[in-house]
Amino acid sequence: MNLKCLFGHKWNGCKCERCGKLSADAIKRIEKVKLALKNWYKESAGQRVGSGICDDCGKKNLFAGHCYLRPGGYLCCEMCADRILGSEYIEWDEALSNLNRFFGPGLPQKIVDMEIK
Ligand SMILES: [Zn+2]
Ligand SMILES: [Zn+2]
Repeated sequence: MNLKCLFGHKWNGCKCERCGKLSADAIKRIEKVKLALKNWYKESAGQRVGSGICDDCGKKNLFAGHCYLRPGGYLCCEMCADRILGSEYIEWDEALSNLNRFFGPGLPQKIVDMEIK
């Protein structure tokens, strides 16, 4: 933590403009968005298994009903879905203001509605 933030952060939207920390509120919202995206990926895959191999990690023998289909046509395993949505390198404050740009295109409206306007 930035020493300047020792006595409190300087919030600008969902992020501290001095140290970059996300607010508790933003973290809660991010968890909801991640879950919604993961569910949507799973619904999109349905019973598809593609070639049976995870496009991301190369894991074999994917099971029907346990695959995740992302925009762009990538079919991956649950571990990779979690890894991608949990990645530290997602700039969440930016992502939250334009979910379609980060995670789409074609996100369902109910997910787009979770954006911070
Ligand atoms: Zn701070
Ligand atoms: Zn995988």
